[in-house]
Amino acid sequence: MSSDTPTAGAAGHDRHVLEMGESHFAGPDRPSWDLYATCVHCGLCLNHCPTYRALGMEMDSPRGRIYQVLQVDAGRLPIGDSFVTHIDRCLDCRACETACPSGVQYGHIVERARAQIEQHYKRPWPARLVRSIFFRHVLGNPVRVATTARLLRLYQRSGAQRLARASGLLRLLGMSEVEALQPTIDDHFFFDQIGKVFPAEGELRARVALHAGCIASVAFSALNHATIRVLTKNGVEVWVPPGQNCCGALQAHAGFREEARRLARENIAAMLDDRFDAIVTNAAGCGSTLKDYGDLLHEDARHERAEAFAGKVKDVTEFLQHLGLRQPTRTLNLKAAYQDPCHLAHGQRVRSEPRDLLRRIGLKLEEMPNADQCCGSAGSYNVTQNELSMKILDAKMKDIATTSAELIVTANVGCMLQLRAGMKRIGRLTPVKHVVEVLDECY
Ligand code: SF4
Ligand code: SF4
Repeated sequence: MSSDTPTAGAAGHDRHVLEMGESHFAGPDRPSWDLYATCVHCGLCLNHCPTYRALGMEMDSPRGRIYQVLQVDAGRLPIGDSFVTHIDRCLDCRACETACPSGVQYGHIVERARAQIEQHYKRPWPARLVRSIFFRHVLGNPVRVATTARLLRLYQRSGAQRLARASGLLRLLGMSEVEALQPTIDDHFFFDQIGKVFPAEGELRARVALHAGCIASVAFSALNHATIRVLTKNGVEVWVPPGQNCCGALQAHAGFREEARRLARENIAAMLDDRFDAIVTNAAGCGSTLKDYGDLLHEDARHERAEAFAGKVKDVTEFLQHLGLRQPTRTLNLKAAYQDPCHLAHGQRVRSEPRDLLRRIGLKLEEMPNADQCCGSAGSYNVTQNELSMKILDAKMKDIATTSAELIVTANVGCMLQLRAGMKRIGRLTPVKHVVEVLDECY
């Protein structure tokens, strides 16, 4: 333990600790006592935490963070720079939840703490401005997402990107690592497909609503099309309901819970319909938040509808595996390694389904060490905490390098981008693909 280790067990299991001082937290996003009380301070989560492993400090471990959140809630610690630093450094990967024998819902604690930070802490004005533009005004507004994507595409295609990279300007500004993580913007955005219905091939086995995603709609349209092809080949009628919007995951993770709630209400109104057997997503990060709408809207009048919506959400891999995959027309005779996206493995407890699907198409799966440890992508974390993210990515690439995989497969677009950047960092050409892309190749 480091010198800034909090006194072990100081939080105690006494609800009155919250009544001893004036809390720095308020409102609907104040964590409930039950969230803290499940932590028994055993420390079994510590070595599963990527930031604790990278930094070796209790304050950057799950137990240390829970302790700090409780102290701030109890009025014993201010919402100051130190607290914000340690909470910002958390990946919200929820590996600690999987490791915890006591059932601590760590994700709910950290996301509520971030909401409190957003309301009560004044970040430096450039950070406030950028966060407000991105989380409040761009994400969650398809027109602005498309406009921003067009500007980025202009930068990528006009030669400006080549010039910025070759001139050393990005390095001078300390932005070369972050800039290299941006996705290539599509020629045609998936927003055009919203409102369409794609008929099932052969006997109708199910009808689903596809959540298309916001960034996925401008940078991963091909993945959404592949998802539709694989589903329809498997006898699934796919609707892309109008009125749907961004899932709100990035906003919820960053503390913008009011914005996330607005999006949740829009998605529920657009997609909760008895006609659909499931609401399907191909993004683990989105799926985890869509399945958590009940908690996000726990004080909302439409809470029951939020729970019903959450109960219908399925990751595309779990949906296909439970439906039963129709025999594809070809198989892939390759050695592959599967990287668990955190929000699929830890957030949704979906681990075997993607692996089973990959085996069905002939891939020889080789388990990498720590396959369910975060790659450092974590939403916008690789931008906001770039240095630490790259350290975590380098550890992941070392694990991948121990395998003889000819293909790396995952189930989340953020992980794909991060792992591709990791391949470049170690000078390897091993392709990184989404489970659905690999399935699509076999039909
Ligand atoms: S969510 Fe991930 S980074 Fe955050 S405390 Fe838990 S294991 Fe550590
Ligand atoms: S494993 Fe669970 S109970 Fe133990 S310290 Fe970590 S969060 Fe608390």
